[in-house]
Amino acid sequence: MPAKIEKELNTLIKNFIWNSQLPSLSMRTLNSPTSEGGRNVLNIQARNEAIHLMKLKKILDRSPDRPPAADAAEAIIICSLPKHTRDQEAHDPRIIDIFTQQIFNKHRYVSKTLPHEIKAILNTGAKYNLALDDVNLPLNIRLDLPAWYHIGTEEHVKSRENTPAAKCLRNTHNCQRTGNLLILANILDNPQHRRWNKSCSCPPCTNFKMASCKNPETCYQLANHMISNLKPQYNPCTAPIRCPPPSGDERAIIKSHSLNGPSSIKVIKTFPNPKDHASVLRIHNSQITSASFRKRITNPLPLRLTPPKKLSTDTVAYTDGSCTGNGETDAKAGFGVWIAPECPDNASLPVDRIFPQTNNSAEVLAINHAITTTPLRARLHIKTDSRWCVNALTVNLEKAEDQDYISTPQPLAIKNTISSLRMRNGIVSIEWIKGHNGCAGNENANELATLGSAKTPDNGSVTPTSCQGTPA
Ligand SMILES: [Zn+2]
Ligand SMILES: [Zn+2]
Repeated sequence: MPAKIEKELNTLIKNFIWNSQLPSLSMRTLNSPTSEGGRNVLNIQARNEAIHLMKLKKILDRSPDRPPAADAAEAIIICSLPKHTRDQEAHDPRIIDIFTQQIFNKHRYVSKTLPHEIKAILNTGAKYNLALDDVNLPLNIRLDLPAWYHIGTEEHVKSRENTPAAKCLRNTHNCQRTGNLLILANILDNPQHRRWNKSCSCPPCTNFKMASCKNPETCYQLANHMISNLKPQYNPCTAPIRCPPPSGDERAIIKSHSLNGPSSIKVIKTFPNPKDHASVLRIHNSQITSASFRKRITNPLPLRLTPPKKLSTDTVAYTDGSCTGNGETDAKAGFGVWIAPECPDNASLPVDRIFPQTNNSAEVLAINHAITTTPLRARLHIKTDSRWCVNALTVNLEKAEDQDYISTPQPLAIKNTISSLRMRNGIVSIEWIKGHNGCAGNENANELATLGSAKTPDNGSVTPTSCQGTPA
């Protein structure tokens, strides 16, 4: 809808409500729901933006139901890109999915060649922070990201995207995705390949030379350079391996740890992997995406890409949160984790100030702490007296992820916990137990949580949470 019409409709609504008199309530108040003291009056701008976002969703759709108009819109967007970013041919092999490429990463779209409607759709997406984000991008998505104009590329790598080796990577080696680059980079470690030797006759070099690559080594080196310079959250070499669903034997072991009967115990699902990168392109209601959030509080460590060996150990952790003055401005929250008497992993910590000082955030962060301090391959069985936490991490999780945690309480604490879970190879189960009911583990965790809330978070000795866990 053109801005002019939007404005005229708003004036009509205002005149109708106030009978052309001076308004005594702001439009913002009138637009609010009646439960919040408003009058539920249609907010035309918000509705138009919602329509734009639904259209954007269609353009991003990669499923078989993708409407043909989405292809047309995308082709128009590509044609509007500045000439220097495209090869002169009709089809530039670098541009394969503009929404996941740096070339598209803008805050505002002003191109005169873009039709008004498409421009409005793109600008609404930018306004609401459309970004490729997931709590730990899994390996399949990282391998599938476009190799060129990669969103995780550092500035100095971009300058090499037009070298002869880069052109050879595109035209001779058909490198379109990060996975293609990784395969080429791995040839450098092939024992048959002779490094820096133009006359190397290893099978890959022979094949590539036959396909008109003049110097395969420089192509492998560039591929390796491009991969090694990807930011850790996009780099396939540092991708976490998500935990597979439990086997029959494991199910029996998990059930054996239940305190209230087998049906009360739930496995926290960190699987399946998102299907494709279109499914992790999301609108973010806040500027804090899980990737930027992780960057702030952790230093990612490279993890092995080999599958985990047989799972061996089991840990049962009782977790609890505590908050003095819950709901007040001077509230102080802390959490406790109790595993066994004198266990060095028992913890009593305050909630870091970047999280809300509430009982619920403390309950989630207690679970996160248990997850990050238990060896990655061990099975972990969490016992909590917070039903809210159990639901937030199990039955409500999928919906929360789909909605990017818009209506989820404690989104940062939950995202961080899910991130920690997705670094694990060992299964995590969770069970609700009644608090203050004589269960020694729960009483101990409760005591540690109370002690934790009395501590000061900014004494430098406390890491709020870590997304990386402890290598097994
Ligand atoms: Zn070779
Ligand atoms: Zn080459």
